[in-house]
Amino acid sequence: MNDRIRGSCLCGDVKFVISGEPGPIGQCHCSKCRKVSGTDGNAVTRVAPENFAWESGQDLIETYYPEKGSHWHSVFCRQCGSPLPLETEAGNLVFIPAGLLDDDPGQRGYVAHIFVGSKALWVEITDNSPQFEENFGSARVSKIPT
Ligand SMILES: [Zn+2]
Ligand SMILES: [Zn+2]
Repeated sequence: MNDRIRGSCLCGDVKFVISGEPGPIGQCHCSKCRKVSGTDGNAVTRVAPENFAWESGQDLIETYYPEKGSHWHSVFCRQCGSPLPLETEAGNLVFIPAGLLDDDPGQRGYVAHIFVGSKALWVEITDNSPQFEENFGSARVSKIPT
């Protein structure tokens, strides 16, 4: 298990490092995460802000708010378009797109699927991880016995 996990964007100019163990990786299937990731949903881990540091490329970071007045936003590299880590409004967590990780985060599979109620029609979730209608703690849609 690495105690320093590196990550970078597609062009490699934006780099960051996580210290300690990252949170479990979940996948969000909401419509915005599908657009942002260009696929069936965003695979995301999270860390406390004190365990996250940018190493380079901060001048390339852009932020986009799709809806006026909503706090949901995407953060991306201006040069290559990769999504980038973003800090929550409350400042207590940094969400990190798991596809950016260059080192092994030391875990396997998804801890859960969230916003499954709005997943793309073509997606079939085939693993046994719990599925939530909306965010964590919302109604379970999983057929897995508890
Ligand atoms: Zn880039
Ligand atoms: Zn989402």
